[in-house]
Amino acid sequence: MNTQWEAVIGLEIHTQLATKSKIFSGASTTYGAEPNTQACIISLGMPGVLPVLNEDAVRKAVTFGMAINAEIAPYSVFARKNYFYPDLPKGYQISQFELPIVGKGFLDIDVDGETKRIGVTRAHLEEDAGKSLHENFHGLSGIDLNRAGTPLLEIVSEPDMRTAKEAVAYMRKLHELVRYLEICDGNMQEGSFRCDANVSVRPKGQAEFGTRAEIKNINSFKFVEKAINHEIERQIELIENGGTVVQETRLYDSVKDETRSMRSKEEANDYRYFPDPDLLPVFISDELKSEIKAHLPELPEEKKLRFKTDYHLNDESATILTSSRDVANYFEEVVKLSHCESTICANWITGELSAALNRADLDISDSPIDATRFAGLVARIADDTISGKIGKQVFEFLWNTADSADDIIEKQGLKQITDTGAIEAIIDTILVANEKQAQQYRDGNEKMFGFFVGQVMKAMQGKGNPAEINKILKIKLS
Ligand code: ADP
Ligand code: MG
Repeated sequence: MNTQWEAVIGLEIHTQLATKSKIFSGASTTYGAEPNTQACIISLGMPGVLPVLNEDAVRKAVTFGMAINAEIAPYSVFARKNYFYPDLPKGYQISQFELPIVGKGFLDIDVDGETKRIGVTRAHLEEDAGKSLHENFHGLSGIDLNRAGTPLLEIVSEPDMRTAKEAVAYMRKLHELVRYLEICDGNMQEGSFRCDANVSVRPKGQAEFGTRAEIKNINSFKFVEKAINHEIERQIELIENGGTVVQETRLYDSVKDETRSMRSKEEANDYRYFPDPDLLPVFISDELKSEIKAHLPELPEEKKLRFKTDYHLNDESATILTSSRDVANYFEEVVKLSHCESTICANWITGELSAALNRADLDISDSPIDATRFAGLVARIADDTISGKIGKQVFEFLWNTADSADDIIEKQGLKQITDTGAIEAIIDTILVANEKQAQQYRDGNEKMFGFFVGQVMKAMQGKGNPAEINKILKIKLS
């Protein structure tokens, strides 16, 4: 970015709460059903129906508030936000306006080795709208109202971020947190976690904010970063060419990698918010708060600290191994079952296993190697039954078969050879076959030692114990 300018970014993140039924009705929230089979009359606001608040949505919102150290409103109110759009046939969305359920809180992010605190202004409950479908309708649009009424928690940040990188770090942190709390499944392809980014620029050193544009509905970390960077560049160029930024809503086009104007402030709706007459205010008692607090799980930050002290992990491993509850649980299982040093377990999970899962695009919960079988592998490496190199071969078999590590080592004859007699015999043969190189070593060419180690390992198909090979070679070559 141009060094005379500074960007200011605030995010509004919509998280679908993982409740079984909708926020004001008993209709199912399951994703992927036949269009319009879950569009109940309450979600559609048919005449004569009455919404009833889903208690689980309230609990999940309060859980979130507590995890970000926010004020929980003892009294909050639902309001109607009036606007017309084809995916909202009832003409208003039930949301919260003046009295949201979650007030000011914060989240700490790490960027380039530094910790920065990002303020959360508020988080409010609301219902999701339906979805327009533009494919397979021959120039027309279809409407699927299954999503209408799915509970959303809209999390609004302070304009505290200064780079796209910070915005992505904040979004990732939130994503990790809502999954830890098990209040949202975090599935971004299915739209369970989506982001609107507010972006403005100002000359460095200026206190007032510039005029912001809001980029709507970004559903991947990669696109958030690209869309924000693109928007920053656009605004700087515009101002430097004598123009002014207008407050507007823009859409990010990921194919063209650009943002496009959707509507300006003048065309913006006046939502005519008013308290929803069909819904009672929400009271949160101290009892409910203490009950929810008592059930808060260990949060990512605490877990990371504990992993560092209890398991002697470095920051990088601790970060990877606490990136989700599933990964953390898997690691702790492996440590427990293998009875080995936690750092060996950590290395094999963050190394070999993570790489294989990435390649196969699998979550650890769908890993073809469960914690028990993985522990079997790590245990045999730790007790020197196999070398690390052979460990990678065993890993491949574990991945592709249902056998245990012990069975694989046995069947494939992969056990490390520590029998000094056997190693000596092989070394003798190799020394005879490579007399010239042996002389070179004795004449002071120390690099030849590696050559011999390689030859012996090759002859033993990688199964020789490296420490023994080194020891015997040293003696025979001296
Ligand atoms: P609205 O509901 O109209 O979008 P809000 O006041 O709720 O307006 O702000 C929405 C988001 O915009 C918040 O995340 C806030 O931090 C951010 N924001 C406000 N002013 C600016 C600005 N000048 N530049 C960048 N972001 C801003
Ligand atoms: Mg907004």
